[in-house]
Amino acid sequence: MSAASEQRARRQGERTCAGCGATRAQAELQRFVARGGRLEPGRTEPGRGVYTCRRLACFERALARRAFNRVLKQTVAVDPALARLYPTSQVTRIES
Ligand SMILES: [Zn+2]
Repeated sequence: MSAASEQRARRQGERTCAGCGATRAQAELQRFVARGGRLEPGRTEPGRGVYTCRRLACFERALARRAFNRVLKQTVAVDPALARLYPTSQVTRIES
């Protein structure tokens, strides 16, 4: 994804999923921020945010690709329990 397309998406109030790269309205995405070196969910938390679709697969993919670290520009610890934020009937183990 280029910086230019990212800027265009932001002007339209859209954000990019760190997992699959899809651009969606911010309201459709799960937002996280880094706090104390940990990934924390937070729609209104200040600071740089990272987004995923509301799909567990996107969270897992972002984790596997270290996209959270890349977007947040720091290394964050990701609690596998964050998977509970995602609506799913299947419980999937997340390897960290
Ligand atoms: Zn996604």
